[in-house]
Amino acid sequence: MTYNYRHILLAADLSEQSAYVARKAKHLAQTFQANLSIIHVLDNIPMPDTAYGTLIPLDQGSSYEMLEVAKSRLTQLCDELGVEMRRRWMIWGVPGEEIVRIAEQERADLIVVGSHGRHGLGLLLGSTANSVLHHARCDVMAIRFPDEVAGSQPISILPTSEGAYDSAG
Ligand code: AMP
Repeated sequence: MTYNYRHILLAADLSEQSAYVARKAKHLAQTFQANLSIIHVLDNIPMPDTAYGTLIPLDQGSSYEMLEVAKSRLTQLCDELGVEMRRRWMIWGVPGEEIVRIAEQERADLIVVGSHGRHGLGLLLGSTANSVLHHARCDVMAIRFPDEVAGSQPISILPTSEGAYDSAG
């Protein structure tokens, strides 16, 4: 039996604080010489209606723009961390469910989440982190933010906040 982690799945909400969690996950992966995968779940962008191939209401232009920004943020983060293309996941759905599903599918043995993120500022444990902790079949590490990181403004996936990762140290 080995106690080393072999495959770490980082759940990134792409908020400013997530850069801190990402660096910790990268460090863990290096320490254990584990593979590192990243997942971002699109939970605030309307999903394409597969039956009709159209976007569910909401302004199509802004949905597209938000999708592009999320894609470029994720790409930037993955490039910075040196994550292989096949280990990058961007999926529509409910974050807690998709994170656990991909962890199982890809046989991750550790999921790394922030203790709170876009939805959970001020909580001891955000709702996504809580859901992952309850449903994952593998280990889960919830990274607590130091005060200076936790105090910074959360950002949403909106076109104006390019370069967010630069400011996270
Ligand atoms: P929250 O439950 O929103 O406070 O977020 C807690 C943590 O769950 C974040 O720091 C991320 O690690 C993860 N998380 C939340 N939302 C997402 C998302 N849309 N995609 C991937 N990970 C997420």
